[in-house]
Amino acid sequence: MRPFTYTRARSAHEAVTAFATSTADRPHYLSGGTALIDLMKLSVETPGRIIDLTDVPDLDFVREEDGDLIVGALTRMSDVANHPLVGARCPALVESLRSGASQQLRNMARVGGNLLQRTRCGYFRSVEFPCNKRQPGSGCSALGGLNRGHAILGGSDHCIAVYPSDWAVALTAFDASVAVVGPNGTRSVSIHDLIVPPGDTPDRETTLAPGELITAIRVPTSPAARSSTYRKVGDRSSYAFALASAAVGLHLDAAGAVGEVRIALGGLGTVPWRAWDAERALVGARLDDASVRAALEPEFRSARTTAQNAFRVGLGVETVVEAVAIAKESAS
Ligand SMILES: Cc1cc2nc3c(=O)[nH]c(=O)nc-3n(C[C@H](O)[C@H](O)[C@H](O)COP(=O)(O)OP(=O)(O)OC[C@H]3O[C@@H](n4cnc5c(N)ncnc54)[C@H](O)[C@@H]3O)c2cc1C
Ligand code: SF4
Repeated sequence: MRPFTYTRARSAHEAVTAFATSTADRPHYLSGGTALIDLMKLSVETPGRIIDLTDVPDLDFVREEDGDLIVGALTRMSDVANHPLVGARCPALVESLRSGASQQLRNMARVGGNLLQRTRCGYFRSVEFPCNKRQPGSGCSALGGLNRGHAILGGSDHCIAVYPSDWAVALTAFDASVAVVGPNGTRSVSIHDLIVPPGDTPDRETTLAPGELITAIRVPTSPAARSSTYRKVGDRSSYAFALASAAVGLHLDAAGAVGEVRIALGGLGTVPWRAWDAERALVGARLDDASVRAALEPEFRSARTTAQNAFRVGLGVETVVEAVAIAKESAS
């Protein structure tokens, strides 16, 4: 591991200032450290300065404001998952958090850091392989290599790495936003704009400017959020990243037809994937497995698959079908 200097920030302002005035190359914030320290040990991340956020007060909370859920960025994944308000307002958020990592990791990791974890692509994590995301212009080892778990949606000729967070998928279904503070002040960023597809610059993963710090996550609640679920399919039922996942929220009208539906896909795309077309096709429909499969068909038209990962089109569709059936039970 490369030597680095260490600063323990005592406020968000102090953290942002430490970042902005750092003379070391590649300064990094640290929250739970469960993603960053791993990558430092692998020499994939080589920050010259670490700015530890864990002593920053006031960013560890869950509350309701104007009907929205607000979660501090330094709240532990397990504390958010166990919070009764979150379970009551949006079960999919709880289930997405509980489906990720392990209990020990969730006790350590924070919900802000979770959003900014980097891909689990094995070539990205092994410095001996070419990887455009780690070293721009070096090539993508996954395109002609092992890509069973790689993205089938949103990839490019330069990178097909899956975006890994489960929590972000549930946030995407319910139009969350993140509050950010940085050297140029504060702003709010929609979850739909936070993570960007690779295009021809896979090293650029988010729309955050250098030194911007996530302080909170805001989730609007709605009847569909209250009848929601997160379904995840992986090689194991725990301690494994998704091969396919779906966050679904549903509200049925008085006649039993779809009033509002939210669908986001995880484990399949380079970004958390909102199934806008499928949602539009389902509003007003009477739900059954066939109508959900038909609505999803256009979503996967743009899928770019390989011999190793083509099975995940069908897996993705059936994961949504199952999640919709669960959400329908709770909405009825
Ligand atoms: C074995 C294993 C299995 C896992 N399985 C899953 C899984 O199935 N699903 C899943 O979703 N996740 C999974 N994870 C990932 C885990 O959830 C993340 O490691 C964790 O959420 C990262 O949070 P952290 O607080 O530890 O982040 P850190 O490691 O501290 O930081 C991660 C990144 O975010 C930046 N950062 C942190 N906080 C902020 C902030 N507030 N503002 C701006 N930048 C910030 C850091 O600079 C760093 O770049 C797994 C991890 C491991 C090790
Ligand atoms: S898929 Fe992306 S992260 Fe993986 S090797 Fe290719 S460029 Fe690197």
